[in-house]
This record gives sequence, structure tokens and C-alpha cells, in this order.
Amino acid sequence: MAVEKLKSLFGKRDPVCGMKEAKGTGIHAYSQWFCSEDCKQKYEDEQKR
Ligand SMILES: [Zn+2]
Repeated sequence: MAVEKLKSLFGKRDPVCGMKEAKGTGIHAYSQWFCSEDCKQKYEDEQKR
């Protein structure tokens, strides 16, 4: 149950590699969180298809 609470607090997760949001790092874009510019780029490429 404690885990569920944490999930709601840190709900964002990198949709590309699945990494959880880490404070002070990564990129916020498209209402998503990305651990790196590389993952954001992959997400953009997938949206284009
Ligand atoms: Zn990532």
C-alpha cells in the first residue's frame, strides 16, 4: 500500500525505457517525463509513425 502512495506522488515514468522520475534530472515534455534527451527523441520518433 505504501508503494501505491509513492506511485501517486511520483507518477511520471519514462514511457521509452520505463525509468521512474528522478528529482532534478531528465526532461519534461508532452506531459511526460524522460530520463534523457535520447529517450525524448525516441518518443518523438514513435509519435511520428
Ligand atoms: Zn529513459
